[in-house]
Amino acid sequence: MPDQNLYALIPSMTALLQHEAAAALMQEYPSGFAQKCLTCAVDEIRANIAAGWIQRPEDVPSTEDILNRAHRLVEEALANKLVRVINGAGVILHTGLGRAPLAPSAQAALREAAERYCLLATNRDTGKRGDRNRHNEELLRELTGAEAALVVNNNSAAVMLALNTFGEGKEAIVSRGELVEIGGAFRVPDVMRRSRTIMVEVGTTNKTHLRDYQDAVTPETSILLKVHTSNYRIEGFHKEVSIAELAGLAKERELMVLEDIGSGAMIDVRRWGLAYEPTVPEAIKDGADVVTFSGDKMLGGPQSGIIVGRKDLIDRMKTNPLMRAFRCGKLTHAALNGTLRLFLDPDRLPETHPIYAMIAAPKAVVARRAQRIARRLGAAVGSALKVEVIDGLTEMGSGSLPARGIPTRCVALNAEGLDAGRLARTLRLATPALFTRIEDERVLIDARTVADEEMAWIDRSVKGALASLTLK
Ligand SMILES: *Cc1c(COP(=O)(O)O)cnc(C)c1O
Repeated sequence: MPDQNLYALIPSMTALLQHEAAAALMQEYPSGFAQKCLTCAVDEIRANIAAGWIQRPEDVPSTEDILNRAHRLVEEALANKLVRVINGAGVILHTGLGRAPLAPSAQAALREAAERYCLLATNRDTGKRGDRNRHNEELLRELTGAEAALVVNNNSAAVMLALNTFGEGKEAIVSRGELVEIGGAFRVPDVMRRSRTIMVEVGTTNKTHLRDYQDAVTPETSILLKVHTSNYRIEGFHKEVSIAELAGLAKERELMVLEDIGSGAMIDVRRWGLAYEPTVPEAIKDGADVVTFSGDKMLGGPQSGIIVGRKDLIDRMKTNPLMRAFRCGKLTHAALNGTLRLFLDPDRLPETHPIYAMIAAPKAVVARRAQRIARRLGAAVGSALKVEVIDGLTEMGSGSLPARGIPTRCVALNAEGLDAGRLARTLRLATPALFTRIEDERVLIDARTVADEEMAWIDRSVKGALASLTLK
């Protein structure tokens, strides 16, 4: 039972507000909000007394303490929440950390569009309303070979829009091997149901033949759907039907081929030693009528979904009422524009696009970066931590190139008696926040996903984390 007399020792709101620090607080910040934080600071003390954490009169915070606490609460509440963090976790497209870092050209386009007004959906010739898609449509046609293109909020919206436009109340045939779940709520059968398409499953988990599709076509069929099984791989006794084969069948039976290709590689990434990932231009060349993909996976742009394909079909999607719900704003269109341009010169991508810089960096370069990080940390934290450089694998992430890592070098940290999970958490909470991964009870910083200019930041994070660990 807490001592009731302790509550009486809490300074009154009137006393708090009369203090000069309170006046400064109200002046510096929106006063209504600052007062709310002051009330919170007082409520915290009451709660601490009730919980028995404050038991002696001298432990009841003073007026100054309360005002300091209120100041901190205001600052925390008004601080920018999407702060920059260091990705030492070794996942290139880390969904939790915002997927792709944008290329400088995309950042410039974003800033230009954000600053004031831009030509988002106005035809400057006539002064009338224009099509917001046209800016990126030209580039997408050039890059993919498709006749037309459309941009929506993400690939899930793209698939939903395509299925609903062409398959509502009709049958769409899909292989059982492709009824996948892509992280969270995107499950092919659920998306089909929600878009009011009647799903017709054919084949088996590991093998589907052209004849399976042929046998399933009825007068109600409208779509042959192909889904890229982005986040897992079947090895061994396996057969799927190619886009070219499906396109042949579609032509014969007057159907359309819709492919959800997922990560949307524009170029064959095998040139950088990665595993094969189907590309959008190939899908179009092979005869897909409509292809959907993400703008923030292998493209490394802003969150968006891209639809390319036959002009008559893209035009129909544009008039679907869902389009209004799925359309993007100027920030997305601008950043995508600044990203797509880079793919006109694929040879230079490792210089122009941070994602490709990470993918293409030779292991020796990554190893040198790891050495540098390790040396600096050794100097900064002395013997408090054991710092080593070890081999590891960087993941592409976001369901691209599943089960194949890119060889990398990592800085491994550990200390006697220090739990790796606790160290990793303290690093995440440090300023700047450092994200790592844990392997064999060691905290790893993957040098492939860290930028050269982040070295000094890493020193600060680790030093700060160690300081806060020894305090406790
Ligand atoms: C990632 C993915 C999606 C979902 O895309 P978002 O842009 O994250 O909405 C859908 N289908 C496939 C095949 C994917 O790989």
